[in-house]
Amino acid sequence: MTYGLLYKHQICNRCNKPMLFAITKKTIDECWWRCAKKSCRLTKRVRCGSFFKDKHVPLNKCIMIIYYWSLNDVSQATTEEILKVSSTGVVMSWFGMLRDLCTRWIRDHPIQIGGHGHTVLIAKNLISHRKRSRNGVVLPLNEKWVFGAIDQDTKETFLVEVYETNAETSLPILLKHLLPGTTVCSKDCNEYNKLMRATDNQSILFVAPTGPRKNIVENLWRCMTDKLKRMRGTSDANTLSYLDEFLWHRQRRNGDRSTCFQKALELIRTYYPCS
Ligand SMILES: [Zn+2]
Repeated sequence: MTYGLLYKHQICNRCNKPMLFAITKKTIDECWWRCAKKSCRLTKRVRCGSFFKDKHVPLNKCIMIIYYWSLNDVSQATTEEILKVSSTGVVMSWFGMLRDLCTRWIRDHPIQIGGHGHTVLIAKNLISHRKRSRNGVVLPLNEKWVFGAIDQDTKETFLVEVYETNAETSLPILLKHLLPGTTVCSKDCNEYNKLMRATDNQSILFVAPTGPRKNIVENLWRCMTDKLKRMRGTSDANTLSYLDEFLWHRQRRNGDRSTCFQKALELIRTYYPCS
C-alpha cells in the first residue's frame, strides 16, 4: 500500500461505505477488506483491482519475484530455486507479465537517441533464417533481424525487429529513432546519403565507419546473448516483448539493486495505479 501497488481504501459494493482492513487466516495474504456493517460483512481481497489480482501466489513472494526480475541477471530457474516456487510456470508467468509491461512502456515512451555531436553505430543481428530440409527444399521461413543503433559514447540503444535490413527499409526506422544532427556510421553510407538527398532530408548524416568500433556492437550483442537465445524460435509477439524488456532494463542499467527494484515498482504503478 505504501508503494501504491495496493489500494489503501475500499468501498463496499453493497453498502457503498468504506470497508475496514482486517487480519485473517482465511486468505493467502492473511488480511482482507471487510464491510463494517454487521448485517453485510462483505469481504474483498487486499489485492483487489491491483496488478496482483487473480494471482494465487502470496504477496511477499510476488514482491520477491519482481525484485529478482528487476535485477536482470537472475534467471527464471534461479528465481524459482531461491524462492522455492514449486508450481510449474509461476515465475515464467510473472516474468512474462513484467515483460508485457515493458512493451507497453516502450510503446508509450518511444526511444530516440543521438543528436548533435553524437555518433551512432548501426547494429543488426539475424535471429531466424530460412532452413533447408533434407531434400534441399527451402522452408518458407522469413529471415528475421534485430536492427537498431547504439550511441558510441552514451551506449544508448534502440532496437526493433525487422525482416529486411537494406537501406530503403532501414532509413525510415533510423529517422524515427535518431534525433536530428546525429552522425551514423554505416558501410552503406553512400546508399543512405543518396536516399536522404532524394527526399531532401538532411536531419542525419551517414559516414563510413573508421577505427575499431566493432567492439561496441559486439558488446551490445554479448549483453543480449541470453535474450537472443530465447528470442530464437519464439513467436513474433514474444520476440518483440523480449526486445522491449532488454531495452527497458538497458535504460536503467546504471542503477544499483535498490534503484532497479524501485523502477520495476514504478513500472507496475504506471499501468496499475492504486491511488
Ligand atoms: Zn457492506
